[in-house]
Amino acid sequence: PAETTTEAPAEEAAPAEEAAEAPAETDAAGGLIGVAMPTKDLQRWNQDGSNMEAQLKEAGYEVDLQYASNDITTQVSQIENMISNGCQLLVIASIDGDSLGTVLAQAKDAGIPVIAYDRLIMNSDAVTYYATFDNYMVGTKQGEYIRDTLDLDNAAGPFNIEIFTGDPGDNNARFFYGGAMDVLQPYIDEGKLVVKSGSVAFEKVATANWSTETAQSRMDAIIASYYADGTKLDAVLCSNDSTALGATNSLAAAYTGEWPIITGQDCDIANVKNMIDGKQSMSIFKDTRTLATQVVQMVDAVMKGGEAPVNDTESYDNGTGIIPSYLCEPVFADIDNYKELLIDSGYYKESDLQ
Ligand code: BGC
Repeated sequence: PAETTTEAPAEEAAPAEEAAEAPAETDAAGGLIGVAMPTKDLQRWNQDGSNMEAQLKEAGYEVDLQYASNDITTQVSQIENMISNGCQLLVIASIDGDSLGTVLAQAKDAGIPVIAYDRLIMNSDAVTYYATFDNYMVGTKQGEYIRDTLDLDNAAGPFNIEIFTGDPGDNNARFFYGGAMDVLQPYIDEGKLVVKSGSVAFEKVATANWSTETAQSRMDAIIASYYADGTKLDAVLCSNDSTALGATNSLAAAYTGEWPIITGQDCDIANVKNMIDGKQSMSIFKDTRTLATQVVQMVDAVMKGGEAPVNDTESYDNGTGIIPSYLCEPVFADIDNYKELLIDSGYYKESDLQ
């Protein structure tokens, strides 16, 4: 089932005279851009989609925005439709980075450039640019938050930790996991951090589709086997907010000890509310407005036949070579700074968080 967005009513309701005058200019400057987003389930993607749509329109482009309900086949057919409907450039946040090779070969044959949005598209030479947040740095910040909050360099420990990362088909997941584990693994090796469940390897801690329910049932099983006897759980490394929500729900239902540190990413509304309630310690804030601005600049440069601004030409090899990338900088939000980051900046309204 495809999710489709409609144009903003305000724009459709533009007075007739204006509508009659505007298009000549807009059409001349712009073109039709296809924007494929993975799902509406996680709030950030809704924000990504609407920011992209608004900023592209402001820059004079028409937009075909589609959400694919986290279903790979749906995303592939949405992209096929974008190609046949005459999109001149595609911006794609893939569901599974490895599943778009065939459809993107069609795009390449049709001379349609592709920008990978947030998640790298793998093993396709149709990808022109990649724009994302620094994914490794996201993980590093989560790991450092746990290290610093437990004061691992000074405290005697040992502390118990459990680990939840994301979907193995999402190239970002290994970067988040890698960034965090590069900080935490030395403490695991020295015995100051203990993973009672024994699940440390990426494959063991991955969460298919980044599903909240899957994370929740894995946490249920871990609590039942290792923490039901009163053993304290000190920290849960969660790569993002949907997995953090699963871990939190499970802990709320089944864990009776002192509440652990829980990390996250996205500053999803449900998770910021948990942060305010003391149920999640931090979340990485990736301002989707910033990413949209970067991508719109890339789109504009490519559409005008120029080169797009990039700041990384070594980190992201998609299997066909390095994809020139622009990495935005993530920051961490917690109870002390969320108001400044999220409300004063206009990202959310105070009432969204009540
Ligand atoms: C994004 C995260 C998001 C996750 C699940 C990742 O690729 O970078 O922001 O939480 O996907 O949708």
